Amino acid sequence: MATQVATTTYADLGLFIGGKWLGAGGRQISPVINPATEEVIGTLPCASTADLDHALAAAEQGFKAWRAIFPDERGRIMKRAADLLRERKEEIARIATTESGKVIHETRIEVMMSANIFEWYAEEGRRAYGRVLPQRAPGTRLTIVKEPVGPVAAFAPWNFPLGNPARKIGAALGAGCSVILKPAEETPASGLAVARCLVDAGLPPNVLAIVYGVPAEISSYLLASPIIRKISFTGSIPVGKQLMKLAAEGMKRTTMELGGHAPVLVFDDVDVDKVLDASVTAKYRNAGQVCVSPTRFYVHEKIYGKFVEGFTERAKAVPVGNGLEEKNKMGPLIHARRLAAIEAFVDDARKSGAKVETGGARLRSPGYFYSPTVLSDVPDKARIMNEEPFGPVAVINPFSDFDSVMKQANKLPYGLAAFAFTNSSRTVKLLGEQLEAGMVGLNTYAISVPESPFGGMKESGHGSEEGIEGLEACLVTKFISEA
Ligand code: NAD
Repeated sequence: MATQVATTTYADLGLFIGGKWLGAGGRQISPVINPATEEVIGTLPCASTADLDHALAAAEQGFKAWRAIFPDERGRIMKRAADLLRERKEEIARIATTESGKVIHETRIEVMMSANIFEWYAEEGRRAYGRVLPQRAPGTRLTIVKEPVGPVAAFAPWNFPLGNPARKIGAALGAGCSVILKPAEETPASGLAVARCLVDAGLPPNVLAIVYGVPAEISSYLLASPIIRKISFTGSIPVGKQLMKLAAEGMKRTTMELGGHAPVLVFDDVDVDKVLDASVTAKYRNAGQVCVSPTRFYVHEKIYGKFVEGFTERAKAVPVGNGLEEKNKMGPLIHARRLAAIEAFVDDARKSGAKVETGGARLRSPGYFYSPTVLSDVPDKARIMNEEPFGPVAVINPFSDFDSVMKQANKLPYGLAAFAFTNSSRTVKLLGEQLEAGMVGLNTYAISVPESPFGGMKESGHGSEEGIEGLEACLVTKFISEA
């Protein structure tokens, strides 16, 4: 619960519809809370159904206008927006840190990543190639063209408050679609800051709308409209399934980037310290609230003791605190619900027989801080071995042979990311072939660049963002046969 009210707002909050910034003006409002202090830092207006109707009508007009602009010019606007993001890096990073809790070093990187995404789609939009088939009869022409799918409804979560909106808006705009985006209510100013760069770069009115409100109400309203032709969602698997059902009613295209429970296989031929340094940084990035966060560490029994000890030492040394202070490497969790969820995961693991090597407790209050936690020897029956924790908890278990660890790695319904570390080229080859995940990092945690597809398999979702696949997801195929 919020305990204090800040004296100044950190950013102007509102809706953006039909090229206009709209304030509270009689709309319902909801508080925005700084997760590091629990202060109310702003009030967010919620879109009414009239606002959503306005956004839908605008998206229909905006689609016609935007698809008529040649990709080259569309790209120029998107590249200008990328430049503005870079120019405004510090200001935007501070906004994102204030509302998400993520440390400033990470939000600065996220601003740059968002700029790179717009730049990638600006270029790739020019390459939405079709093809011409060889004739089967004289005088005929058989052509395949790619067209923008239509207005997109997109729903972005709070864990990458800038990067998630950039991915969703970038793909739609690059393909020639208009988009109505609902960023997370926890991190509204970040989505608005991205929108502002696009508007200042010359994006025509009606091409983009930003709305906020009760997530389930907004998504069901937008998905029921025949104007929307595609939805793009990043969030939890249960919500993804719900939205898939709504999309099915109107046979709308979907991109679903859902949760993960990434395994990390560490073989006995590695430089243990090097793997530990990379692993601890990756695990506690954004307090573990990352869909590709490394979570289930399976470590060869020969190096297991050393690995657990080294992980624990490093976890204890992670400076935790307000993300605006440069010295901190981990901030708070996003809201009180996540704090309770992580507590429940760790309590359950403890009761199941896991050993808490370090952490396992809330940190100081105010603020939704939880200590960087390491659990070892965690039984398979513990909830944390089966459900995505989405928090600062590393689970470490030993393994003895390749086949058994591969079985463990692939046994969950998740299939977003998987990682492994080994110096054996033969093992690397087998890992690439056998790990069931949309993104596989071998001897690295770096699995995302704008030109690579980001997405999962199994219940982690379908479709990819970024890469040529990200653009393709916003295009439809038309075959034209002329005689
Ligand atoms: P949550 O399910 O309430 O919300 C997650 C996100 O989905 C939020 O951005 C929310 O606004 C949105 N959302 C929820 N219901 C929606 C609906 N009916 N229509 C449209 N959007 C909707 O959970 P939370 O406590 O905020 O987050 C924790 C869980 O969410 C985690 O367990 C994790 O699995 C998942 N999550 C995943 C990602 C990811 O990158 N895949 C990101 C954030 C959260």
